[in-house]
Amino acid sequence: MTASKSRITLTAIGPEQAVLRCPHCNSDILFASAHGIRTLEGYWIDDGDTLQLADALDDDGDGLSFYGCLGAGTQPCCGREYGVIGVCMIMGDVTDDFEQVYFRKCGDMGQSTNFVARRGKRTWLVERYETNSGPMLEHTFPPFFVSESMSGENGVSSCAAPKVFATAAAFVADQWPELVALLKEQMVVAAR
Ligand SMILES: [Zn+2]
Repeated sequence: MTASKSRITLTAIGPEQAVLRCPHCNSDILFASAHGIRTLEGYWIDDGDTLQLADALDDDGDGLSFYGCLGAGTQPCCGREYGVIGVCMIMGDVTDDFEQVYFRKCGDMGQSTNFVARRGKRTWLVERYETNSGPMLEHTFPPFFVSESMSGENGVSSCAAPKVFATAAAFVADQWPELVALLKEQMVVAAR
């Protein structure tokens, strides 16, 4: 087993802790507790667009339903724009209603249980939601530096920043087997 293919481990979050940093000034910008999240100010993503994950994966996604998003945001630490990758994953097929609520955040998702994920030296945020279709994991990967604006006339879009979106999709595809393995592990773990 090489380091690049090492499995992902999850650590439950108890008291609030900082989980994501600004890639520009290294300030803590996102704090999570067992079931809650807060930022320095507002939401950590201002705008985003769908990440075409299916195109980046070698196979059909291992029987999962999934949704990837690449967002752009700023926080008052330094006010400079960063990119954030979000990925929702659940085993099996889901309905359009499910996608609206859990993938596009239009509805009540209920409370999440939050974890810090670790793989090699990288850490990120994982929120687990209990749904009628089983547990869904939502990964929020650390904000990264973006050298070009991700926004066009209609806001953040893959058309405005094709290179950034392609790089982000490849980043997720590269660790897809480990992400799937983690979801399968979580399916046999009871809700906390
Ligand atoms: Zn900053």
